[in-house]
Amino acid sequence: MTATHNLSAIATTDDVVAELRARSAFVTVSHVKPDGDTIGAGLALGIALKRFGKRVHYFCQDAVPRNLRFLPDSGLVSSRLPADLPADALFVFCDMSDPARAGDAVAHVARENVLDIDHHLGNSRFGKLNYVVETECSTGAVVMHLLRGLGAPIDADVATCVLATIMTDTGGFMHSNTSPEALELAAELMRCGASKERITEEIFLRKRVAATKLLGEIIERMHFDHDGRYCYSYVDDAMLARTGADGEDIEDTVNVLRGQDGVEVAALFKAIDGEIRVSLRSNGRVNVQAAARRLGGGGHFRAAGLTCNGTLQEAFQAVDAALLAEGL
Ligand code: AMP
Ligand code: MN
Ligand code: MN
Repeated sequence: MTATHNLSAIATTDDVVAELRARSAFVTVSHVKPDGDTIGAGLALGIALKRFGKRVHYFCQDAVPRNLRFLPDSGLVSSRLPADLPADALFVFCDMSDPARAGDAVAHVARENVLDIDHHLGNSRFGKLNYVVETECSTGAVVMHLLRGLGAPIDADVATCVLATIMTDTGGFMHSNTSPEALELAAELMRCGASKERITEEIFLRKRVAATKLLGEIIERMHFDHDGRYCYSYVDDAMLARTGADGEDIEDTVNVLRGQDGVEVAALFKAIDGEIRVSLRSNGRVNVQAAARRLGGGGHFRAAGLTCNGTLQEAFQAVDAALLAEGL
C-alpha cells in the first residue's frame, strides 16, 4: 500500500455501500495509540455489518485504552488477525491519513482489499476506495453516512459508539469542529439510545489519581516562549514511574497547556519507551497540521501529532523550527 502521486478520487457513498454489500468478511483497522474515534468508528461499522450477517473482526495493534472499554464490542478488539480470513476480506482503515499509522501487522494487505474511511487533512488515499470527508468532526460521523446508505438500524450500541467518536474528537463539544451538524447528529444519536452521560463519565471525567499527579509534574515543567504564545512541556519514563501513571493517562493533557492565558500553540513531548511522540494543539491561528507534516506527522489544523527521533532537546528544537516556519 503506497500512496500514489496523483490522488485517487474520493469514493461516493453509493460506491462504498455497494462494496460493503458485496463483501462477506471485514476487518476494521484502528490506528496505534487508539483514541475514541478510531475505535468507536470501527465498532459502529462492525456492529452494524454484523446485523447484516457479515463476518467482522476488529483489529488494533495496541490495546483498547481503559477509558474506552465500556464501548460495546470493545472486548473483541484484537491485535491478531484470524488465520482463516477469506482472501477477499475487506480491511476498513478508520481515522488515519496514512496506513503506516495502523502498524506492521496489516502492512501486507493488498490495496484492492482496503477501504479508507477518514476525516484528516491530507489523507494519502491509500485504499481501493477512499471515503474521506474532511469537514466531518469525526470518522464515526463519516461512518454514519455509510450506515444511512446501507439502511442500517441505528440501535443504542451503534449510537453510543458514534457519539463516543464525536465527543472524543470535539473534546466533549468544545473544539471548533463542533458544528451545528455535529450537534444535530449527537442529538439524533441520543434519541437512538446513546448514553452521553456514560461517555462523559468514562472518557472525560473519571481520572486515575496517578494521572492527576502526572498532570502536576507536567504543569511544573511548562515552558513559555515566543512572547508567551507557545507553551510546551514533556513527559518521560521517570515521571511515569514516579507517579504510577502510564501513556493512557496523558491523553488530554496538551489541552491544559493550550488553555493557558495567551497561549496560541501548545506542544507536549512524550519521551516514552525509546521514542518521542509529540502532540500539538493550536487556537486556530497557526496550522499545526502543516507544522507536523514538515516532520513526518499529520493531523488537523488545530490538533496534530508526530514522532521524533533523537534527544528531547533535539525534538524541542525541531518542533520549534517547524512551528516558526508556519507562522508562530
Ligand atoms: P494526538 O495529539 O495524539 O491526540 O493527535 C492529534 C491528531 O494528530 C490526531 O488527528 C492524530 O491522528 C494525528 N496524529 C498524531 N500523531 C500522528 C503521527 N505520528 N502521524 C500522523 N498523524 C498523527
Ligand atoms: Mn484518531
Ligand atoms: Mn478522528
